[in-house]
Amino acid sequence: MALIDVTVPDLGNFKDVPVIEVLVAVGDAVEVDTPLITLETDKASIDVPSSAGGRVAEILVATGNKVSKGSLILRLEAATTTVAAAAVAPEAAATSVVSVQAAVPAAVATAPRSAVAADREVPLLVLGAGPGGYTAAFRAADLGLGVVLVERWPNLGGVCLNVGCIPSKALLHAARVIDEAATMAAHGISFGPPQIDLAKLRNWKGGIVRKLTGGLRMLARQRKVEVVQGVGRFLAPNVVEVVGEAGTQRIAFRQCIVAAGSETVRLPFVPDDPRVMDSTAALELESMPKRLLVIGGGIIGLEMACVYDALGVEVSVVELTGQLIPGCDPDLVRPLEKRIKGRYGQILLGTRVTAVEARSEGLCVTFEGAGAPPPQTYDKILVAVGRVPNGRAIGADAAGLKLDARGFVPVDRQMRTSVPGIFAIGDIVGQPMLAHKATHEGKVAAEVAAGQKSSFDARAIPSVAYTDPEIAWVGLTETEAATRGIAFRKGMFPWMASGRSLAMARDEGFTKLLFDPVTHRVLGGGLVGPSAGELVAEIGLAIEMGADARDIGLTVHPHPTLSETVAFSAEAFEGTLTDLYVPKKA
Ligand SMILES: Cc1cc2nc3c(=O)[nH]c(=O)nc-3n(C[C@H](O)[C@H](O)[C@H](O)COP(=O)(O)OP(=O)(O)OC[C@H]3O[C@@H](n4cnc5c(N)ncnc54)[C@H](O)[C@@H]3O)c2cc1C
Repeated sequence: MALIDVTVPDLGNFKDVPVIEVLVAVGDAVEVDTPLITLETDKASIDVPSSAGGRVAEILVATGNKVSKGSLILRLEAATTTVAAAAVAPEAAATSVVSVQAAVPAAVATAPRSAVAADREVPLLVLGAGPGGYTAAFRAADLGLGVVLVERWPNLGGVCLNVGCIPSKALLHAARVIDEAATMAAHGISFGPPQIDLAKLRNWKGGIVRKLTGGLRMLARQRKVEVVQGVGRFLAPNVVEVVGEAGTQRIAFRQCIVAAGSETVRLPFVPDDPRVMDSTAALELESMPKRLLVIGGGIIGLEMACVYDALGVEVSVVELTGQLIPGCDPDLVRPLEKRIKGRYGQILLGTRVTAVEARSEGLCVTFEGAGAPPPQTYDKILVAVGRVPNGRAIGADAAGLKLDARGFVPVDRQMRTSVPGIFAIGDIVGQPMLAHKATHEGKVAAEVAAGQKSSFDARAIPSVAYTDPEIAWVGLTETEAATRGIAFRKGMFPWMASGRSLAMARDEGFTKLLFDPVTHRVLGGGLVGPSAGELVAEIGLAIEMGADARDIGLTVHPHPTLSETVAFSAEAFEGTLTDLYVPKKA
């Protein structure tokens, strides 16, 4: 039997690090990643994992020895691992079964050991199975770590799949179909008023969610990620207690990724009444009110307003600040505001709700602000004033995790918290609270946990309001440029000059790109109009790749598409646009 030498991997800047514990004995069976020895650096204690599987034949270090990169730890009698080709690499897919040499993870910091007793120890525990958590769990499993994924809800997928991104987009699709059908009456095709079967619509939306969350369960099984259902809470920096229907268990971990997400903000003066909804209740479409007030003119509130409006409800929106979708450039919001002003009951900007009284005839709402109306009565209210991180609900203190004033868990670019071996990702670490930010952070955390040198260094994260019209932006905004004194020049293309937009019976949209005035590199961009959320990805890619106006303008875009408006905006900036006449500046 061949012997495998297992050595100390690259420890970064550390040399001559003392061994404080030898964790295996001669004859022990070890797997890839089984901790072999514990080292004590001046920053943290580090478990050195095995780079191969087998039986320990000889141990060559003892407690008190000092080791550096390349020091021999032990010799193993070799064992080979057999895995399905598809799980290894695409190029191996031609063979059905291959034998692989396990990857060699670098040494990673592990959670401090504690005196708290546990039922078992796992290499990596992921707390929360939203887009951040399941992505981290799957990526870590693909990199060879043993993963336990703890989730309080019966389904995986978190807010996004169960009560957020996906169900809202299903209903927004239904809203668009209704609105587009109605719009065609002006162009020669009339349909009767829509017959809305709420139960069927709800069931269709639920079916999409079930399909996706069921798919995640299968993906977890395929990767051998163990899902433990229950509410998890730290008892110590290396132990989480999970309380679930199957009982209570204490799981010790070597590393942990906290992905516990966020929850809806409640307004203390709003009564506990079934007619008051949060976004989750609004997605349930339990019944259609005659009059709905949406408190909060941000993305979530306006998306739900769009759905209820299409379903025939008289919707009003009240927003504390002077603008819908605060943070977005005002010019991008204007076409949406114009459209909904013509359709909704009231759009109250710069207005505060100060009281809500539950009466038998409805919910009586009092407003405050320069243009505030007298108290109004609504059949239902949707409170959509933001989300707060779940940092305070996971026993962070017991883990030694520091939270900021708003309850976020501070992290570095490798998604590491202040506690060695504990990472955090997604909504719980800060804005923007978006699913695509959570998934990217999840991958970084998993890769760092597996010893890779990854970090979250995205230049820009796109934001999208899937309203009608859609609004999307990425990178530098004009508002931010003004606040931070960043110089830029702009290229714009109005969609009323886009053949494709006109062929869709829409002319209110536009695309704009912001460029560095010296290098002409794209710094940011925004779009408003149908499918803006799809189109913004190209601008995000251009920012990531450091593209300049010529790169974008010279990229041949298919005709006739809305994507051409991105190229036309670059051409407008370069002065090469022929689809519009832009007078030359003197
Ligand atoms: C109505 C709505 C629409 C949205 N639309 C979009 C959109 O279109 N695009 C977009 O990018 N984002 C959208 N979002 C935001 C998006 O859903 C979140 O940014 C995303 O889900 C965050 O992912 P996460 O993994 O950080 O956390 P979450 O998705 O919140 O997942 C956290 C998970 O942790 C679990 N958990 C929490 N505490 C514990 C505990 N103690 N023990 C066990 N499990 C626990 C929760 O049950 C949950 O499953 C929307 C949100 C809402 C509410």
